[in-house]
Amino acid sequence: MTATALKAAMEAGELSSREATEAYLTAIEEREKDIRAYLTITPKTALAQADAADKRRGRGEALSPLDGIPGAIKDNICTKNVRTTCASRMLENFVPPYDATVMGKLSGIAMLGKLNMDEFAMGSSTENSFYQITHNPRDLSRVPGGSSGGSAAAVAAGEAAFALGSDTGGSIRQPAAFCGVVGLKPTYGVVSRFGLIAFASSLDQIGTLTRDVRDGALLLNAIAGHDPKDATSVKREYSDFGAQIGREIRGMRVALPKEYFGEGLHPEVKEAVLAAAKKLEGQGAEIVETSMPSLEHALAAYYVISCAEASSNLARFDGVKYGFRAEGYENINELYDKSRSEGFGREVKRRILLGSFVLSAGYYDAYYKKAMQVRTLVKRDFDRILSENDLILSPVAPTAAYKIGEKIDDPLTMYMGDAYTVPVNIAGLPAVSLPCGTDGAGLPVGAQLIGKPFSEAEILRAAYVLEKEAAI
Ligand code: GLN
Repeated sequence: MTATALKAAMEAGELSSREATEAYLTAIEEREKDIRAYLTITPKTALAQADAADKRRGRGEALSPLDGIPGAIKDNICTKNVRTTCASRMLENFVPPYDATVMGKLSGIAMLGKLNMDEFAMGSSTENSFYQITHNPRDLSRVPGGSSGGSAAAVAAGEAAFALGSDTGGSIRQPAAFCGVVGLKPTYGVVSRFGLIAFASSLDQIGTLTRDVRDGALLLNAIAGHDPKDATSVKREYSDFGAQIGREIRGMRVALPKEYFGEGLHPEVKEAVLAAAKKLEGQGAEIVETSMPSLEHALAAYYVISCAEASSNLARFDGVKYGFRAEGYENINELYDKSRSEGFGREVKRRILLGSFVLSAGYYDAYYKKAMQVRTLVKRDFDRILSENDLILSPVAPTAAYKIGEKIDDPLTMYMGDAYTVPVNIAGLPAVSLPCGTDGAGLPVGAQLIGKPFSEAEILRAAYVLEKEAAI
């Protein structure tokens, strides 16, 4: 069931939170041996929270819009008293003494557990987890995408009614596309990052993975809002993000930048996304062909900026304050050295090295500064396209889900898979990824709808139309 349907059933007295939570815990028990989406399962907490929610409901009270709904959380979002590992050895035993702001906003949910991811959210397949490989519920031999692969897989497998993820360069949208669920990356600043373990602070944003578009609005309504604890969160009042769902899209201008459909895009993915454009057109939208020249440079800029920020953010993991500490060191430098060498995995080290390099004296102007200039160009291109149009439609990833192990030894090819998602983060825009069809092998294909800052309600309105059309 969707979270919206669960909520309605609970409000009608047809279902208790305990019954729903027990059903999800049973599903987890049955399916986890194949899927492996969870790093930590918290059945006791979930059932206690479910019982508390049922009591509240009996009194006609609710703590949040998702009161009593069983959901799960990506393991880079701090949960008080529940281990939060970032899928890293570095944080194997880290139990946060506080909750991320989003957890407070979701108080009342029955939290089923914490979800697998690429270590520190660096990756596109969840194979960079220190702990386990998550399997795509649509085909167990394939990756679920990443870095929020556990979140997408759990929702797709019916192991959680909804999940939170984080998106720095596509980590919500791409796994949503690979697993056939809906992923929403909000405008930068709409959701507080307080308690989200930082990867690249100017790009990171928490968002939602849900079974359908309506659930995305329900969940975003709950987690959005200004937070004095996050200096980059926006002071703004939000109205219902689902308010436009169900309205027609006649006259909406939907832009298709040709660079998003060029070389590297798998023909079957292209076909499915173009078919989605036709469906929107059939509902009265105007499809506008346009151009985004900066797209070809966005990926390189992303890997410079995100690694630069990561090298700084991850400096705090030094074996001294918290997290993993190596044994057998002689002095403080050896303590740093050994703890970081043993605590971080290969991909994280690669990015720290890259980031330190592009920030170093002598290379700063050539790499970091250049990347920031490209960032401005990407923003300008989006500004131009979105001043003439309401939305942009594009693929989410160049291919559907690939086989486990297929790309893990080839980081560059893996990075290339992020080309269509990273520009959105570079410009701080909102975007949704939703299933729009299948490829020849029956694997889900995702479509991406990108909008102006704070246009989540419009994006969801068009997404809802596409969701209904794609189901036909
Ligand atoms: N796949 C991208 C990367 O590896 C994006 C990750 C993310 O959004 N956290 O950096």
